[in-house]
Amino acid sequence: MRQKRQDLIRSLFDEYIEMYAARDDLLTERFSENFSGYTGGGDFLVKDREHWARITRKDFAEVPGRLRIEMLDLSTQDLSEDVVVTTAFFHIHLPIPDSILSRETARLVLVFRREDGEWKIAHSGISIPYQLLASGDDEVYPINCLHERNRELEAIVEERTAALEDAKTRLEALSNTDGLTGIANRRAFDGMLAQEWKRGQRAGTPLALIMLDVDHFKKFNDRYGHPAGDRCLQALAGALAQAGRRAGELAVRYGGEEFVMLLPNTGGHDALETAHHIQQGVWALALPHADAPTGIVTVSLGVASLVPSAQLNPEDLVQQADSALYSAKLSGRNCVRSATA
Ligand code: GH3
Ligand code: MG
Ligand code: MG
Repeated sequence: MRQKRQDLIRSLFDEYIEMYAARDDLLTERFSENFSGYTGGGDFLVKDREHWARITRKDFAEVPGRLRIEMLDLSTQDLSEDVVVTTAFFHIHLPIPDSILSRETARLVLVFRREDGEWKIAHSGISIPYQLLASGDDEVYPINCLHERNRELEAIVEERTAALEDAKTRLEALSNTDGLTGIANRRAFDGMLAQEWKRGQRAGTPLALIMLDVDHFKKFNDRYGHPAGDRCLQALAGALAQAGRRAGELAVRYGGEEFVMLLPNTGGHDALETAHHIQQGVWALALPHADAPTGIVTVSLGVASLVPSAQLNPEDLVQQADSALYSAKLSGRNCVRSATA
């Protein structure tokens, strides 16, 4: 008889836990009209069923998912014919990772009382190690606290992502820039050439390239030293960048003492004019070069312009400008030659 009652209470308890874990509102049906209970904190006595139902529903709304209750120990104790107490120790696994409740033991005491032949829950006292939970409001589950932490982590991630994005942009700019002169480097040129070639091919517009090489630069280095040679290259890069006359033009240090300027949507005639403009700009710098026939630093320039087409390659443009530069050198330096002239 006694064993039978214990089994019954045990099954009622299991039913209660199941409803609790499933966040089932029907849970409150199990309560006696004459109900009292302690909420999670343990020091707040709820004196009626309605109030308890409100608190329970609030908890349920906080954690909408199913809980997993990991039972550690359960004992039942008969107080009288009609009153049985069950005490359970368990871990509550919330649908969020690494919650404190998964590690700390909660205790639930349920008092079952027989009323009109039916076993009802007359008292419930759950105690959760409250000092570990969110302080301030009466939150049973530390959801707000975890959400807060989550927001903090998200903010950190966002900040790091922005910093990384920034570093990437700077790195990209660096990898496209020549370290000595600060103008675009060969890598940037290759990308730009391919891009402008395609654009010119689509639009049927010409693409021009000016290639220039410093005259007698070896002698310059020999006389003034390599550091002075570097400063000379920096000055020349500045002159080249300033000589540009249209948006979209790209001044590039092609390598060593060779520079190029890419001129989108520019025909041979206009490119030639720009080349002369560059030559004058370098002349105006009047950088002393005692071992050059002119007494100052000069450059030779080769100009080419093509309408990109499927039959041609971007390399053809480079090749033509290079040949033109070679003829400029052959013609005595400090001059401009055009591939089409
Ligand atoms: P040319 O008029 O035929 O062009 O004669 P050049 O002496 O300029 O031609 P050459 O190719 O014989 O020499 C190029 C020189 O440019 C040799 C090299 O030391 C120098 N040079 C290349 N890159 C740099 C650099 O970054 N800094 C310095 N200071 N010199 C450089
Ligand atoms: Mg050279
Ligand atoms: Mg040279």
